[in-house]
Amino acid sequence: MSADLALINTNIRTMNPNQPTAQALAITKNKIVKVGTNKQISKLIGEKTKVLSFDGKTVVPGIIDTHIHVADFGRCLMWLDLTTTKSIIELQSMLKEKAGQMPAGKWIVGRGWNQERFKEKRMPQIADLDVVAPDNPVILYHESAMVCAVNTQALKLAGVTKQTHVPHGGVIDKDPITGEVMGILCDSATSLIWQAVPEPTGAELLEATALACQKISQAGITSVHWMVLSEAELAIIQNLHAMGRLPFRVNVVVPQELLEKTVGFKTNDVSVLRVGGTTIAVDGYLDSKEAALEEPYSDEPNNSGKLLCTEQTLAASVSKVLSLGVQPIILAMGDRAVDTALKVIEQIPKSNVRFRIEQAAVLNEGLVKRLAKQKVVVSIQPKVISTEFSVWSATQRLGLERAKCLHPLKTLLSEGVKIAGGSDCPMEPLSPMLGIQEVVVRDSFPEQRLSVDEALCMYTLDAAYSSSEEDQKGSIEEGKLADLTVLSADPMSVEPEKIKNITIEIIVVDGKVLIA
Ligand SMILES: [Zn+2]
Repeated sequence: MSADLALINTNIRTMNPNQPTAQALAITKNKIVKVGTNKQISKLIGEKTKVLSFDGKTVVPGIIDTHIHVADFGRCLMWLDLTTTKSIIELQSMLKEKAGQMPAGKWIVGRGWNQERFKEKRMPQIADLDVVAPDNPVILYHESAMVCAVNTQALKLAGVTKQTHVPHGGVIDKDPITGEVMGILCDSATSLIWQAVPEPTGAELLEATALACQKISQAGITSVHWMVLSEAELAIIQNLHAMGRLPFRVNVVVPQELLEKTVGFKTNDVSVLRVGGTTIAVDGYLDSKEAALEEPYSDEPNNSGKLLCTEQTLAASVSKVLSLGVQPIILAMGDRAVDTALKVIEQIPKSNVRFRIEQAAVLNEGLVKRLAKQKVVVSIQPKVISTEFSVWSATQRLGLERAKCLHPLKTLLSEGVKIAGGSDCPMEPLSPMLGIQEVVVRDSFPEQRLSVDEALCMYTLDAAYSSSEEDQKGSIEEGKLADLTVLSADPMSVEPEKIKNITIEIIVVDGKVLIA
């Protein structure tokens, strides 16, 4: 019996410890049926077999992103991307082009400018925007998202004038002589404008999300853990599924308050689409000092962050999620939050439940051992880690000893804790290759760097393990689902700083070849 598809002359990194590399593989329907040498696979090649020869390319298991906000990414794609603009003139020409494509009166939202990058070394002003987009309201966010530049139409529609009361914690930039609004608003004042921007229609969001799906697929991703933020997204996912427009497998993860809304969520095949997890937040973020710590923040001795729930309420939430047959995904960053999560996990009778802690950041040796004992998966987003270390000083905020415990990835692996990797796109870049590079070359506490093999495992086998799907995917093995990512180069042999430049040749999802 000949195979439907064969990949030959390739460098296969299987992630299967019993057969780490191979030269060729064969697929029948949606399963991998043979992994081996060209000679072995040639026996399965018949008249009807599609044969792809990939001289010099590397095949890895289909990449899994375990933390991505797909619909939010779609929303961002609707916006004007100003992240590379190097002058106000360039920004104006992009804005003019966009306005030319839009009907008069339609809002134009943009993001990503930074006056430090501008030749003019100043922020865009109201007249700069009015001259190129006189008929459309415009709001352009600075890359920090804390400042926006707007035009006259936007001020008019939002009802902002020189008399407008400035909200607490906000700034409206005004002409020192006339008092007229200059078009720059900061912090809480930005919401005065944002609240006038209408929500995209359902049809607009659907199309934007479909475009996001294409981009994700082009990045080599064959499965996502779709972190849902709103009820509207559930309908979008169902619609895209029904239209055959989901180019990857989807494990839907909803916040606790939306779990009941997923009753009636229809799926024909749980390996393609399922509601798999529910997030329960135990604390907030370290950057806003809301992560719950055992000892106060080193730069704020009266603040140790705060828990968003007690051990008892967390236990009740976890039991409820389990009773609905879904995986509890606990959001816990600080050591006190992780301790609280572990106390609850340690009391649950052992069963098939696989617990996952999202973004567990401050992990001392004791916590790492407890995570290992309970077989809890730690889910991380590499680019978030490097942003954390670069945006604020971990040593200042946590003190040197505690900063050493911030994302101790190598220690986690050496104690036997599995780590799953994701992007947190659109907050951070989508590319899994960049994610792999980040953990391989990390600057802060380099003793916690991972090998390329370990980093790849976070996006394949251990990502599959994190949602109890390692029997079906995550490695290139006979009997597993035929999900593959073909890379332009081998991440194990390029220079670590160049992993992010590796491109995607093709992907295979469920036995079907998708050209990236
Ligand atoms: Zn997120």
